[in-house]
Amino acid sequence: MSNLKYCQGPNCHTYTTQDRLKGIKGSKTYQTRRRSSMYYGKGNFCDQRCMYDWFDKHGDHAVDHFGRLTEVKHLTEQNAWVKNYDYRSYQRGEEDRYYFVNKITEEQRPLTKAQYDDTNYTLNERG
Ligand SMILES: [Zn+2]
Repeated sequence: MSNLKYCQGPNCHTYTTQDRLKGIKGSKTYQTRRRSSMYYGKGNFCDQRCMYDWFDKHGDHAVDHFGRLTEVKHLTEQNAWVKNYDYRSYQRGEEDRYYFVNKITEEQRPLTKAQYDDTNYTLNERG
């Protein structure tokens, strides 16, 4: 089973660590890391250095491609709802308490666990 992913860092193979040194004796080379799972950049990079190498090389292009911000964004009452979770309820032996809190008005509204877990569920205005 070879379900290994390749680190997408453009310079990964140039970092001379022992785990990158592969091949048969006499013709070993430093190689891009391959792993079944990686923890950086949504599983695309073996470490932060490789992630930042990629961004240094492609970041400007990626930002331009997906839309460069050209004006300030505003946090308003209409889009300031964030989900929160009161872990202290658990410590007090109570049921978990999930809620929305508005970062501007500080208003709180209760949530069910299902609503809390639903990443599409929001009170914020889309736009
Ligand atoms: Zn890497």
